[in-house]
Amino acid sequence: MARAVADWPHGLATTTLYLDAEGSQYPRRSDLDPRVGHLFRLARQRAEELGGDVPAQVARDLTRIAGWLGEDFERGAVRGLAFFSRAGEGLFEPVTLPLPVYDQVVVEPEPDVAQLCAVLAACRPVVVAAVDGRHGRLLRLDAGDVEELDLEEDGPPRQVDTDLELGSFDRHEEELGREHYRAVAQVLVHELERRPVTHLVLDGPPEAVVELEQFLPPLIRSQVVGRMALPMRSGSTELAAAASEAVGGTERARRASLLHDFRERAHTRTGVAVGLEATLDALAEKQAGMLVVERGFEAAGGRCTRCGRLVPGGGPCPNCGAATGTLDNVVGSAVADAVRHDLPLEFVVAGDLEDLGRIGAFVPRRGATASWRSDHA
Ligand SMILES: [Zn+2]
Repeated sequence: MARAVADWPHGLATTTLYLDAEGSQYPRRSDLDPRVGHLFRLARQRAEELGGDVPAQVARDLTRIAGWLGEDFERGAVRGLAFFSRAGEGLFEPVTLPLPVYDQVVVEPEPDVAQLCAVLAACRPVVVAAVDGRHGRLLRLDAGDVEELDLEEDGPPRQVDTDLELGSFDRHEEELGREHYRAVAQVLVHELERRPVTHLVLDGPPEAVVELEQFLPPLIRSQVVGRMALPMRSGSTELAAAASEAVGGTERARRASLLHDFRERAHTRTGVAVGLEATLDALAEKQAGMLVVERGFEAAGGRCTRCGRLVPGGGPCPNCGAATGTLDNVVGSAVADAVRHDLPLEFVVAGDLEDLGRIGAFVPRRGATASWRSDHA
């Protein structure tokens, strides 16, 4: 979805509007009105500054957004809203989000997908596989929804076969047990083939979890980010909450380790671009391997009208000398460029990179501190 919006052709003016719709804070839709009004005023003000046809275009965008809020918006589990609009060209994308965003409005040639990407990165779907000696359950957690998947496998019949020879009874039990775990694993593998996820959580008595894992392919085992031991009969909400907690813990640890790595490299000035200017250079030179950006970081800049290079601040393009179009938030455009080029993105908490310019990139190749003089086009 972020990719589709990031791929919009650049136009004269695109209106991007993010609205915090956190239920506890703003329980009724009318509670959003004052803030919507404020954001609309900011958008009109910005449009006036840009002049030309922009105010008329932005007015159409705001009408479209107001119309959507008035007619199509159902509160439900929505905690954030994003709008990308170039109504004059028939481009309008309203997005409801399961996590809050901060209020923001941007009017510039391209959509600002930074907050959208941050939310999507923070709410990747998770599958929970719960298993004990007799039963299995599968849950899929996606954007705040909990879906209990139908697990046909309900354990083989356990009544004693009277024809069975006494000596083979234990072996028979053992085989039935193996069959059970194999069947649960098969359903899980099938589900992950159908709808892949990157995060898997296993639940059940430790010995049962170990049995199940034996039947999982290595790739799927590598996606296990948490193990827990809640009872099989736990409510799906309870399982989902515990799984989210487990995933959250793993993610925090991964991010901390990534930040540590980034800091070490920044300290020795190897393998990273640090700060806005160096990061935009690395992106332009196609040397960035992963973009790391603080949530909420915004900075003014521009995009070269000829070669497309992003630059901080104003002035002509340092690469080709052509004029640059002004961007309110060049960080949003940097994120969009990363999305377009399938670069991994890591959003860190505001303040995490404060001393390092709030944005950076891992640069896999050596000597990659970008040069302005490259022949990037
Ligand atoms: Zn240029």
